[in-house]
Amino acid sequence: LTRLYAPLTALAGARVEVMSAFVSFERVFEVLDLKPLIARKPDAREVPEGQVSVEFEKVSFGYPSAEKVSLASLEEVATLDGRGGTPVLHEVSFRAEPGQMIALVGSSGAGKSTIAQLLPRLYDADAGSVRLNGIDVRDLSADSIRDTLGMVTQDGHLFHESVRANLLLARPDASEDDIWDALRRSRLDGLIASLPEGLDTVVGERGYRLSGGERQRLTIARLLLARQRVVILDEATAHLDSTSEAAVQEALAEALEGRTAVVIAHRLSTVRAADQILVVEAGRIVERGTHSELLAAGGRYEELYRTQFERPSADEAQPVA
Ligand code: ATP
Repeated sequence: LTRLYAPLTALAGARVEVMSAFVSFERVFEVLDLKPLIARKPDAREVPEGQVSVEFEKVSFGYPSAEKVSLASLEEVATLDGRGGTPVLHEVSFRAEPGQMIALVGSSGAGKSTIAQLLPRLYDADAGSVRLNGIDVRDLSADSIRDTLGMVTQDGHLFHESVRANLLLARPDASEDDIWDALRRSRLDGLIASLPEGLDTVVGERGYRLSGGERQRLTIARLLLARQRVVILDEATAHLDSTSEAAVQEALAEALEGRTAVVIAHRLSTVRAADQILVVEAGRIVERGTHSELLAAGGRYEELYRTQFERPSADEAQPVA
């Protein structure tokens, strides 16, 4: 996950302050805003209203070399793409229909986060095309991309701010009712209402200590408030006890309802629910299908399933610190 943000650090020593996790595609978009070529493209298009399809067609990509990035001025950064880097993705193709959930699985370093980074144009593909509703992301305005795509990670820490402030990040104009509605749907309303300071309770490392499951549900409350129609979700890796797991999973299913989702999946319940699972290995999609299709095929997915997704029983599961 840290790698998802690494390019920010590389790009933006100058003026973008990187908050390590949680939100932070807002930060990513600050970088996008530094890309004058995108922002000023005269004929830039908008993603039309309604649900959105996500499509990769023969996308190949390699990260730019470190020297190239550190030498680049901001203007040069605006035109940086992966040219010249070691290839990390090779002819990746898939299509998420509007409202579908795609799960990316694969071992560490396979290329899952890289696929996620190409959607908001943190980098551009060297070859092939990344499209939202059939429109190449290079032809979309930065504003439209920002309004359409949301990025959520569940492992991140919270900002040392009130519950309210953490939630308003997702939708600054949310009303008190909207906030409570999101908390209710993420099954956190009871807890927050019981705290002496309610919504003004400061959370985060030095504040009120939420449990792992509660933190995950607070990120889901943010997702419920956010308006973006496409969600890129990097799931939490922490195992929860089975009661918390069920609560998190129900809330997540509700939050993703009606949106198109690309999920870097770490949970069995997610891969089971996915419309399509893509098995990524060394930058290629080596298998695709539903959970039951892939298990029946008895290939790489089945192996991954045994090592990554089959969980110890609830009694053995480690509580989240
Ligand atoms: P994980 O599950 O560990 O997060 P992943 O499947 O998301 O892994 P990626 O992070 O996409 O894998 O990494 C794919 C390859 O790209 C790896 O070889 C990695 O070392 C390389 N890589 C990732 N980020 C960068 C970067 N910013 N610069 C150079 N190489 C990178």
